[in-house]
Amino acid sequence: MTSRRGTLFVVSAPSGAGKTTLCREVRLRVSDLAYSVSFTTRAPRPGEVDGSDFHFVSVHEFRAHRDRGEFAEWAQVHGNYYATSAVAIDTALARGRDVLLDIDTQGATQLRARYPEAVLVFIVAPSLAELEQRLRERGSDGEGEIDRRLRRAREEISLWKQYDYLIVNRDVKEAVDQLTAIITAERARTVRLTLTLADLEVPN
Ligand code: 5GP
Repeated sequence: MTSRRGTLFVVSAPSGAGKTTLCREVRLRVSDLAYSVSFTTRAPRPGEVDGSDFHFVSVHEFRAHRDRGEFAEWAQVHGNYYATSAVAIDTALARGRDVLLDIDTQGATQLRARYPEAVLVFIVAPSLAELEQRLRERGSDGEGEIDRRLRRAREEISLWKQYDYLIVNRDVKEAVDQLTAIITAERARTVRLTLTLADLEVPN
């Protein structure tokens, strides 16, 4: 019999790299994977549900949680605050549940310091030209916002070496296969397992 503490799988990507779709597909495919619902001060988008997509809070509420030390990490992204609840992930990990987090590079750096055994995965579009095209096709951002996101994407991509794995998202199915393989392999690593010898049948 084996038992283990849960593992944090931290996924970051510049906007337009396809991370949201990828994380959604992987959650459907991989069993026993908890998803960390972040806190944010940005307004909900159409269809987003409070408590399920994000915990939507005011800047005042956000600062109160932060100042009480309730966040495992927090960052300002595209002018809004985002954070991960410390108690939510610590409880899941202690129960042996793996947790998938979709957070930016600043948050990933903070989580690496707090949970050195976390697995960090970086997703990129095949090229900056492709990234720009995807941002335009999405049609949700104006020209200034697209420029801002592309500038930020360049900065974020320069941090890829801080991650354990890099996935180039050429094709969604291929990228989902890769992320699933990473999670499956990490779950089998001996360093994460505790073997109970009494439960093993030892041959003579
Ligand atoms: P969006 O508002 O478009 O859903 O997310 C914008 C960015 O914020 C994305 O890069 C996403 O990964 C990041 N983000 C979402 N939740 C968190 C969080 O809890 N912490 C941090 N640091 N970034 C987050």
